Amino acid sequence: MTAFRSKLAGRLARVRVGVQAQLFGALGLILAVFLVVVNTYPVIQSRNVVFTSKQSALASQASVMSTTLGGLETLTGDGVGQIIGLLDVDLAYVAVTDAQGEPLYSTDEPRMDSQNADIARALEGKDVFRSRYTGDAFCSSMAMPVRSRGVTLGAVYLLDYDAERGAFVRTLAGHLRLYSLGIGLLAFGTLYLLSRALTARIRELSEAVRVVGEGDYNYSFPPRGRDELTELAADFNTLTQRLRETDQARRRFVADASHELKTPLASIRLLADSVCQSEHMDEATMREFAGDISCEAERLQRLTEKLLSLTRLDSAASVDFHAVDPAVVVNRALTLLRPLAQSSGVRLNAELSGSCRIRATEDGLHQIVFNLVENAIKYNTPGGQARIRLYAAGDRVCLVVEDDGIGIPPEDLPHIFSRFYRVDKARSRATGGAGLGLSIVHDTVQQFGGTVTAEARTPHGTCFTVRFPRLRPEEDVNTEKENLP
Ligand code: ADP
Repeated sequence: MTAFRSKLAGRLARVRVGVQAQLFGALGLILAVFLVVVNTYPVIQSRNVVFTSKQSALASQASVMSTTLGGLETLTGDGVGQIIGLLDVDLAYVAVTDAQGEPLYSTDEPRMDSQNADIARALEGKDVFRSRYTGDAFCSSMAMPVRSRGVTLGAVYLLDYDAERGAFVRTLAGHLRLYSLGIGLLAFGTLYLLSRALTARIRELSEAVRVVGEGDYNYSFPPRGRDELTELAADFNTLTQRLRETDQARRRFVADASHELKTPLASIRLLADSVCQSEHMDEATMREFAGDISCEAERLQRLTEKLLSLTRLDSAASVDFHAVDPAVVVNRALTLLRPLAQSSGVRLNAELSGSCRIRATEDGLHQIVFNLVENAIKYNTPGGQARIRLYAAGDRVCLVVEDDGIGIPPEDLPHIFSRFYRVDKARSRATGGAGLGLSIVHDTVQQFGGTVTAEARTPHGTCFTVRFPRLRPEEDVNTEKENLP
């Protein structure tokens, strides 16, 4: 039994109840309940009003009759007949019995089965009223004792048959049924069409989600309507467009990365093959080849490190930020770059003023400073200078790296933060660059909540400005606490 129940529950859980069925079912149920109420409540209320009015009318008539008959010493058929004739009652049926329930007077044949029972109860001293709606008319009866000086002489029984009000209620019920049917059909039809239109659009959307899920990012929804589904479709289009762009960027990135990796690998292979194939290579040439292989391997290493940095930045993995003094990081990077500056004949000029802290990671900040200053040296001319300034300005900390080197043409400036973008490919490759350094700078600065801009310097050279949000003293304390072991 339990197994059967769980099997049934499992099956039921798998049954798919569509949105249209749910909408149609729920609203249809509400509509049906409403129509039933509209159909029954007014009819019941009208019937109750008629019942109440009948009760009071019959009670007063029976009371008049009972009081008048109570004036007689004894009840006889003739006496009762005379009095009823005088009272001129306009009822369907009138009957009077003696104290034993024997009929003394009646205007017609008895009409209701309950007559005798009601008279018996009236003879016990009770007023008995009954009324029912037959579908054609209201049939109401009243039985009341006839008393004289505390003695029950008999009972009167009145019956009223009201076909006029019966017809009114019947017509009312008929009209209500007709209107309900019309309204019901209209409402159900509209509901069906609306729910179908709605679910058709939902189905279209879910089909689109499926198509995009399978990797076709070119799917786009034509704008239709002005409701929430239209907004959803617009959001969906934006999403697919983003997916498209991300996918293109990913493909481009993979293609560019493979291309960049291919070049040093091909050189290494060529150099290694030359060494292998030449039988009488002198030691000096061999050393030169080995040195070249080492250079290319170093280039590969730098490239893969940069690629890894970018992948890490893309993965948005949680980063352990803390309060960092940028001056310390800048000084360390400059110490590392001084030999390169000396060999390139470039003077390094650093002005690190004030004490300020930013929310960052030392490694990330090092990458930013190192890449910018390395470029300022690499793309400089012998005798040139690279100027590094660090200062606090309001709620920002600014790092400015400027050089008087070869500069960047204005048309290239908007692209230099893009991955693998190089202004002068030959020169850049000669310096070992793959066009990734500035992308790393850009993404890392963004990760720290800052901005980076590049502008041309007159007469020549380039100026990079990085702005970081400055840590307020209270934030600085909190960050310190966060990073306590
Ligand atoms: P790379 O590793 O090739 O140097 P970057 O992303 O650091 O890549 O720089 C992208 C390109 O921007 C470089 O190839 C170079 O052409 C140009 N560039 C970057 N910094 C400077 C600079 N200070 N002066 C002139 N050109 C620069």
